[in-house]
Amino acid sequence: MFHEGKLGIEMAHRAAIRSIERVVGENAPLQDPQVANAGIRSMLERGSVLVLTGAGVSTDSGIPDYRGPRGSLLSHRPMTYQEFLHEPAARHRYWARSFVGWRHMDKTLPNPIHHRLAEWEKTGKIIGVITQNVDGLHRAAGSRTVIALHGDMESVTCLDCGANEDRRSLDARLHVANPGYLERIDLDPSLVNPDGDVSLDEAHVAEFTMVGCLVCGSQALKPNVVYFGENVPAERKAKLKELEARSSGLLVIGSSLAVMSGYKLLLDAKAVGKPVGLINGGPTRGDAKADFRWRSNIARALELLDDRSVEDPSARARQLPMQGIRCSHGHQDTS
Ligand SMILES: [Zn+2]
Repeated sequence: MFHEGKLGIEMAHRAAIRSIERVVGENAPLQDPQVANAGIRSMLERGSVLVLTGAGVSTDSGIPDYRGPRGSLLSHRPMTYQEFLHEPAARHRYWARSFVGWRHMDKTLPNPIHHRLAEWEKTGKIIGVITQNVDGLHRAAGSRTVIALHGDMESVTCLDCGANEDRRSLDARLHVANPGYLERIDLDPSLVNPDGDVSLDEAHVAEFTMVGCLVCGSQALKPNVVYFGENVPAERKAKLKELEARSSGLLVIGSSLAVMSGYKLLLDAKAVGKPVGLINGGPTRGDAKADFRWRSNIARALELLDDRSVEDPSARARQLPMQGIRCSHGHQDTS
């Protein structure tokens, strides 16, 4: 039914907007960083931890966080899946902006956080990385087991015939169709959004020429990224379930868990009694449920987790000759 269809689209679109606008506030007291450090360290020592990463791990690579302190949500709302499907003008605007922003995304490099996680996979501390980021930086850093929950920027799909095209091939065709276009735009890199889209004025949007699908000619092309209001593909969910089942616990790094597909991983882990650790610069939706939560600069926290010289406070308490020293966990040390 046409009306039902239209209503369904509108409801899905509104739900997507609510998800975009979700603000995560404080929902648990801060935990002593030493307790969080020791707890997360013990999880990693046990091995096979599943890591979930969000925008906070890529900000050091120059990709801004939608929801961070200077988050681009303040000035710009990302497109919803429903707009992608049903609003050709919104799609045109997206591609104009994305054509400009791609140059910045394509130049970004993994940072020490990505490299450390790749190393932790090699040493068995972690089983793999699920990422909410679409920037491809975990693979670039050498991580082998990576599930990009929300897809990546590497390819583009035709919404009419389903044909796939490599993003670089599309970019080359857009260059041919838009001679001199990029040169006319003075891009401020701080205005690039996490999905490679930039803010662009309407005049520049209007003079952009979109190209068609190589197979059917349709201009309804969409990056292989899961947009707000779109479901994670079933095959990807199945891979994720398999990895979750083999993991010993969940460590969330650099995500406020505002989006349900990420938050669900925390709920899944708690449902089967697995430990959950969080490392983030700000509050997360999972703070009240996590076993260990570490509010910190992320690169610094990961560096400390790897630092053998950092004393385990409870070990030091055990070494002291006096009786009755309180260790960091708050119980009486009787050794
Ligand atoms: Zn097509």
